[in-house]
Amino acid sequence: MPIYEYKCEDCDDIFEIFFKTYLSNKTPKCISCESLKVKKIISSVSFNSKSKSTGSYFSDSSNIGKHVEQSFSKHGLQMPDSVKKSIDNARKGKMPKGLDI
Ligand SMILES: [Zn+2]
Repeated sequence: MPIYEYKCEDCDDIFEIFFKTYLSNKTPKCISCESLKVKKIISSVSFNSKSKSTGSYFSDSSNIGKHVEQSFSKHGLQMPDSVKKSIDNARKGKMPKGLDI
């Protein structure tokens, strides 16, 4: 299951998007300012252990969602339970439900 990491060009936030299948015509919105000016900075990372690249940021599953947590705390916001749960599940290798695009 791929994760795509994006950087917002308006507020410089970095956030992660989970895709079951990548749809190139879908541009994600910045989670902080909802800007559409986001740049993909990691093309594809998979949870599949066979294709896991060693030394990758995501080889440590506790890094999953770190940017999301950081950007929430940076803005002094409480992370919604649904987001927390999605990150927890992703760290356990389970993909969150309801994020299919
Ligand atoms: Zn932004």
